[in-house]
Amino acid sequence: MMLDTATLRVDLALVDLTLLLLFYFITYRRTRSAYSGWWCLALLLFLAGNAAYLLDGTIHQVWANPSGNVLLVSGAVSIWAGARSLRTAVPPAWQLAAGPGITAVASVLDQPATNIWAGGPAYLAFMSALIGLGCRELFLLDRNFSRVHRTLAVGSGILAVFYFGRLAAFVFEGREGPVFLSVFGSATTAALSAVILVVASFTMAELSYEQQIQDLRARASVDGLTGLLNRTAFKDLAENELRRLSRTRTTASLILADLDHFKAINDEFGHSAGDTALQAFANACVSTVRSTDLVGRYGGEEFMLLLPGVTPELAKEIAADISRLLQAAEPGAIPRLPTVSYGIASAAAGRVDFEALVASADAALYRAKTLGRDRSVLAASPLEEKTA
Ligand code: GH3
Ligand code: MG
Ligand code: MG
Repeated sequence: MMLDTATLRVDLALVDLTLLLLFYFITYRRTRSAYSGWWCLALLLFLAGNAAYLLDGTIHQVWANPSGNVLLVSGAVSIWAGARSLRTAVPPAWQLAAGPGITAVASVLDQPATNIWAGGPAYLAFMSALIGLGCRELFLLDRNFSRVHRTLAVGSGILAVFYFGRLAAFVFEGREGPVFLSVFGSATTAALSAVILVVASFTMAELSYEQQIQDLRARASVDGLTGLLNRTAFKDLAENELRRLSRTRTTASLILADLDHFKAINDEFGHSAGDTALQAFANACVSTVRSTDLVGRYGGEEFMLLLPGVTPELAKEIAADISRLLQAAEPGAIPRLPTVSYGIASAAAGRVDFEALVASADAALYRAKTLGRDRSVLAASPLEEKTA
């Protein structure tokens, strides 16, 4: 029995609409995950695109047909962005807009009033490429990310290859070609799309949940006031880093910083001025060190930096640079910025005990305070020097 295309299209639209409602009300509203948000958008765009094609053969075809192409390619963009949001940042806007933009131009220039395949090659090429990119993102995810993402990766891979086959058939034998009409016809496309949508719906809840957990984890590792790593996250990352450094026998320095007479800043200028000073110090740290160094707020007005490959002497210069940058900062809401004391401990090659390292930096910091503050002191070293 041969199913007719119109029936399949309506069936696909119903599957699409049902999933859209399910994804939106159950998964998206509950998890607010970017992944389910992008999928809802994709389903909405697929529905709108297929609806636009219903105007083919009427006087509206001239605008509806190119719109259909652009909406479907935009749906594929959403699938790509959603898959990518599981792993890293969503691509910049111009990359998201490139496919729909080029498809729009190609479709409008290809006699859309009379040609229902106006811009066909661009449309097929972008569907294949964007779904393929989504598939790539899913394959790049860590194997342990979820139990289901590989299944979805295979499903979207098949769909990407299918669109590529459609493109090849369209280019080589044209829209009336036997292979294009039979193997890659609208009926096969609608049936395969329905299968992929069902696979996506099975994986949706788990992937959204994983993403929500990861977001919470990321937020739980950042200090709300300064945007630096918080104590737990700093410790976890520093322990990993120290293990890695001990394997490669690389030296590292740990700096413990404490703002001087900070209580007086709060007392004189108010708590929010104190907060501004903490943020200014965090900015000075981040601007001074390399992006691969670890910077954390260890609690209250205490901060910590782990600098791989840096000797204690160099760490001392870095601490002086941070203090200089802090004093040069625009104080904004606060009449003066505090000075800072630093204790510096060296993780000589092979030394991995984080707690012991913190204890020696803390002892050095205590000496910096008793020696009059506004200076850095190296742990277990008689050398003491004013920073400014
Ligand atoms: P010292 O030079 O010996 O370090 O003196 P200090 O005044 O800096 O040290 P102390 O430990 O006596 O005071 C630290 C103050 O930091 C007390 C606390 O109210 C303030 N503080 C801790 N966290 C925050 C914060 O998030 N915002 C503000 N504004 N103040 C904070
Ligand atoms: Mg303190
Ligand atoms: Mg202090």
